[in-house]
Amino acid sequence: MTKPSGTICNDTRASAGRPPPRAGEGQDGPSTPPQAPQIERATGLLAGVRQVLSPHFDARPKGVTPELIVVHGISLPPGEFGGPWIDRLFAGDLPPDAHSSFRDVAALRVSAHALIRRGGGITQYVPFGMRAWHAGESQYQGRSGCNDFSIGIELEGTDTTPYTDAQYESLAALVRALLAGYPTLSTDRIAGHSDIAPGRKTDPGPGFEWERWRRMLHQPNA
Ligand SMILES: [Zn+2]
Repeated sequence: MTKPSGTICNDTRASAGRPPPRAGEGQDGPSTPPQAPQIERATGLLAGVRQVLSPHFDARPKGVTPELIVVHGISLPPGEFGGPWIDRLFAGDLPPDAHSSFRDVAALRVSAHALIRRGGGITQYVPFGMRAWHAGESQYQGRSGCNDFSIGIELEGTDTTPYTDAQYESLAALVRALLAGYPTLSTDRIAGHSDIAPGRKTDPGPGFEWERWRRMLHQPNA
């Protein structure tokens, strides 16, 4: 068994040998996508969204602000949607015996700032001003340690299952809120996990249509 890499989202082993679930299969999140989520700068929290605060975070390095948005894909167990397991992983509370795939990941201390479920519902785990532990060993434009200066957003899915319309809309709305809340972010600095950890990570995978999503980001009413 290979050593856990420090992040849990999809890698080359995650979806091997499993038929992809249908889009929209499984339980949706508890809430519909917010139309215009707002970030409270003082707390780094999104107003009006579900919050399951993770113990897996710490302060960003002194003087460092979010400059990069990283899009991930995750499912637990791999290829299955719905259920409490992503929350419990990020909460440090994943029972290793609940599924055969959990044994190797239950002890990982990982998190993301937010998760967007198949139905578009957002859960926040870490305040955006703090450092979540989502990227692992990574590099963006020559700068390593992307957790220091990035915001990590997980989409519930697999690399090869189409992400849902609600997820595209919700991600666009969330990123617009982040751009408004953190002037050091830019539409030019949004990457997939696979872009900052090539050869190690594959998420969000070819199932995520970047061009389509960028059009939605720039044309919210299109
Ligand atoms: Zn990832």
